[in-house]
Amino acid sequence: MGEKYWEENKWWVSPYNFISEVKTEFNLPKRVEIHDATLRDGEQTPGVVFRKEHKVQIAQMLDEVGVDRIEAGMPAVSDEDFEAIKAISKLGLKARIYTFARAFTVDIDKAIECGANGVVLEIPIGYPKLKYQFGWTWEDVLKKSVDCISYAKGKNLHVVYFPYDTTRARDEDLTNVLTRIMRDSPPDSIGLVDTMGCALPEAIKYLVRKIKNITRLPVEIHTHNDFGMAVATELAAVTAGAEVVHGCLNGLGERTGNAAVEELMVGLHILLGLETNYKLDRIGQLCKLIRDLSGIQPANNKPVIGEGNYTRESGIGVDLVMKNPLAMFATAPQIFGREGKVVLGKKSGKASITYTLEKLGIENIGDEAVAEILQEVKARGTEKRALLSMDEFREIVSRRLKG
Ligand SMILES: [Zn+2]
Repeated sequence: MGEKYWEENKWWVSPYNFISEVKTEFNLPKRVEIHDATLRDGEQTPGVVFRKEHKVQIAQMLDEVGVDRIEAGMPAVSDEDFEAIKAISKLGLKARIYTFARAFTVDIDKAIECGANGVVLEIPIGYPKLKYQFGWTWEDVLKKSVDCISYAKGKNLHVVYFPYDTTRARDEDLTNVLTRIMRDSPPDSIGLVDTMGCALPEAIKYLVRKIKNITRLPVEIHTHNDFGMAVATELAAVTAGAEVVHGCLNGLGERTGNAAVEELMVGLHILLGLETNYKLDRIGQLCKLIRDLSGIQPANNKPVIGEGNYTRESGIGVDLVMKNPLAMFATAPQIFGREGKVVLGKKSGKASITYTLEKLGIENIGDEAVAEILQEVKARGTEKRALLSMDEFREIVSRRLKG
């Protein structure tokens, strides 16, 4: 068994992630970069608007938490977007700044005016898009791509060629376009884009290998969550050699959203055991900022940031939640600057009552009193079909102790 599955007081994940039989299948790159697209793809969530000052604030915090690249927006969208990207470029962050560009030279000129380091150059390749939406052949895609890539490269931008809806492209279209692009105007890296979030991890791995075989360039994986696998497919892509993972904080994005950046950080560092510099204890603060500015409340059970992730209602293991969290969770809440939480309701046990009484400074009240309080807590939780508040608990305790 490998050694990275456990780190004292921090995490204890499956050791099978690190056994040689599993790892020999991997072709892990030396280093993986996170490309955060919250300010572009995340803002595409219907109803979400980040103003200029919000974008600047988010970019600063993304940089502090340790993402490598920030896709700061699409300057063509509005003057305010343009100004926001310009302001972010001027911050002098460690993270490199990208803009999203259509295959038009005017979009590339705007990227340069904003002071961006690179562009994500989008063009459709998915067959349903070409057939129904654009009426293009792969030759049309190639023609529109070549000049723009050359133009952007000529302006010293780092060019991510982003043939989107890649996972629904015809195999031969993808082969033809990538082969000819490499001959006529090679970009710096290739985006593998699961726009509709509809590819299995194994299919994604096939595509990473295919793109690498044709281009020998770094592969950037960008997925959506329509089948609940956005993060899984991105991690699968990394095991096949993808060097850059794209995502949005809180999993924001159209429909089911993008791969969640906070989940990617944890997956890369803990599940794949890669060396990273992310400040995991700052993730919660950053995700709360996104929640407040987007107005979208993440699910209570959302991985990494969900309010309920470290909450225990059942009486069994209550003491462990506090004293030995790795018996109850794969990750200790402390690594995210959080704490385990014991709540009271229908599923409480004696240990939950004793623990909560101790927190209130009440000790040694006798087994019988504890049993009576427990009975009433369970009855109240069942009746209201919810958890008890601390005030409700205090009321039950003071009545019982008086009685
Ligand atoms: Zn996307």
